[in-house]
Amino acid sequence: MENLFCYIWPGKGNNSNSYLFAHVLRGDRPHVLIDPGHEVNELNERCLDHLLNAMERDGLKPEDIGLIINTHSHPDHCEANQAVVERSRDKAGTSKVQQALIAIHEDEDEYRRVMGPIMARMLGREVEFEPNFFLREGELNLGKENKIKLNIIHTPGHSPGSISIYWPDGRSLITGDAVFHGAVGRTDLPGGAGGLLRQSIERLSKLDIEYLLPGHNTEFGNIIKGRDNVTQNFAFIRLNYFPILTP
Ligand SMILES: [Zn+2]
Repeated sequence: MENLFCYIWPGKGNNSNSYLFAHVLRGDRPHVLIDPGHEVNELNERCLDHLLNAMERDGLKPEDIGLIINTHSHPDHCEANQAVVERSRDKAGTSKVQQALIAIHEDEDEYRRVMGPIMARMLGREVEFEPNFFLREGELNLGKENKIKLNIIHTPGHSPGSISIYWPDGRSLITGDAVFHGAVGRTDLPGGAGGLLRQSIERLSKLDIEYLLPGHNTEFGNIIKGRDNVTQNFAFIRLNYFPILTP
């Protein structure tokens, strides 16, 4: 769609989907990448190479990425952060910022620092990056004349600082690991909270969404297209994961 490219992970092992807003930032590095994903996953699939090759086919270069936003700090969403930052350094540009910047929600940072090493041991992956700035709930306007206006929505539950990214003009919602096609994010990992996830998903269900862009694929599918299908998905999730308890 226009400026938004969706990179749905096609492999067998675990990896997040990636999304890219192209040609939106001022300066030499105009692309914004949401969730670079794994560099290499548990099945030794070369996830980052796959993403960069797919971007290349769309005419998008990794060295032109100026901002990385992570929906949350789990390794399958941000392991490749640092590698993408390194690639962005390859470019001899004129702008003051010499590499891609990394942003996460402010509530995710302490969790990332405390739980990061523990999660890494649990999942057998090392994740090392330092965010350059923090996001809060609210508008995030990108580019010249605010070319792309995003709403950052704090959607805790899967992790304390999980965010969803809503693009009202494109009626698109990037959900991270809050809600998927026919499923929700797990809450059994450290920092997970079922009650919070339920509230977060209820908030998301109120938005006008034509494209629901999840962080992972499920047995049901990946992207959900069409407002009616999105509404049905929220209804399915309410029924199957958060049934209303009647006395
Ligand atoms: Zn996660």
